[in-house]
Amino acid sequence: MTTDRSVKEGKRPYPPEHLSSSSVGLLTDCSKLWEAKYRRGLEETRSGALILGSAFDSAVEWALRERWDGRWFTTEQLASRFGAAWDAQLQRPGGVEWGTRGQQPTFDDGLALCQAPATLAALRGAQLAPHPDNIDAPALQVEVKLAVPGVSVPIIGFIDAILKTPTGISVVDFKTARRAWAKGRERKELQARIYLAALWQRGEPFPRLTSAYWIFLPGATPEACRVQRLEPGLTERDILLSVDMLRRAWRQIEAGTFVGNPHSFRCNELCPCWHECF
Ligand code: SF4
Repeated sequence: MTTDRSVKEGKRPYPPEHLSSSSVGLLTDCSKLWEAKYRRGLEETRSGALILGSAFDSAVEWALRERWDGRWFTTEQLASRFGAAWDAQLQRPGGVEWGTRGQQPTFDDGLALCQAPATLAALRGAQLAPHPDNIDAPALQVEVKLAVPGVSVPIIGFIDAILKTPTGISVVDFKTARRAWAKGRERKELQARIYLAALWQRGEPFPRLTSAYWIFLPGATPEACRVQRLEPGLTERDILLSVDMLRRAWRQIEAGTFVGNPHSFRCNELCPCWHECF
């Protein structure tokens, strides 16, 4: 187990040149930790779950690109892509907190997901939309920028994939999780709200827009793995509420008021600020 709490001063400009859903999510979860990360450059230790999610996302993106190019892919190829992405993640600087699950079982979770019938069915059935900026390319890792009146910087995000639907398009975010998401969690997530707002702002008619989270859930065997697909069913009102929340978040940054949240799920001894707070 590694608990490297490296301090990387000066990595980011301050005030930030942009915001993202993860940045605002952290601000609303524990603004003291946000200040430590985005103003002072303290880095959170990466978790095993993050490594798994990043490596699996990379394999999923590869598989969808193969389908866009008209090629079939096998479970062996998907597993091989996952393995390569896993190795690349481990070569990045900084430690990893593997938690009680441990490194090898976390890797095995990813392998099982790559071999799972549920994963293959989901990926082979996905109908990618063309990239909004280039109709010859697939809509994968689509960068979007949202301008919010009263916020001096853009809100930036990368949509994992945009899929075709019978009535328009769906922005899809891929997740991995040990447990299925509880009912209603998809409505609390900020990512899809920012993505829909950005697409709406660039002229996409709102009635054509939907969103979904695909949560890949590892099991003890490939057959036991599942894919939970949740649609938040966002309305224009939901988007406007989120835009207002982003404006308030920016005001908080401008005011420089950052308060710790001992009830955050991040609040434990792995937090780089733990010894400042407790
Ligand atoms: S120790 Fe807890 S309260 Fe303090 S910054 Fe970290 S998460 Fe926030």
